[in-house]
Amino acid sequence: MTEQYSHLVCPHCQATNRVPAAKLNDAPNCGKCSQPLLTASPHELNSQTVSKVIQKNDVLTIVDFWASWCQPCIMMAPQFKAAASQLPQVVFAKVQTDKYEQAAAPYNIRSLPTMVAFRGGKEIARQSGALPNQQIVQWVQSLQT
Ligand SMILES: [Zn+2]
Repeated sequence: MTEQYSHLVCPHCQATNRVPAAKLNDAPNCGKCSQPLLTASPHELNSQTVSKVIQKNDVLTIVDFWASWCQPCIMMAPQFKAAASQLPQVVFAKVQTDKYEQAAAPYNIRSLPTMVAFRGGKEIARQSGALPNQQIVQWVQSLQT
């Protein structure tokens, strides 16, 4: 039997880890910095990390594109965080588009907030507008295979 691996970018040191699929349920730690790879909490991406996280992660990765002036974005932030804590095997990340304009540019974000789901470097779905926690969870679960 061949073992399946998933690539996962460490949210702490940005090292790309190769994790056996069976270990994803097992709170894997980073091979470089020994910190947890799956944090059940959204991490902030910047211009340097956004493309790496999106392109290298094989696991489902949800990116919330938001801005500090966007009231619905601010209101959704705790909902997004709560959804992340309920789905520890999904990577949740945020990009502050007014701080890192370059980071958001390739993803053609037309309204805020927009959540974009990526897997293996490809966009698989997007959702514009603020959602409550339970609807974020349902949307993400509908994308899990
Ligand atoms: Zn690390």
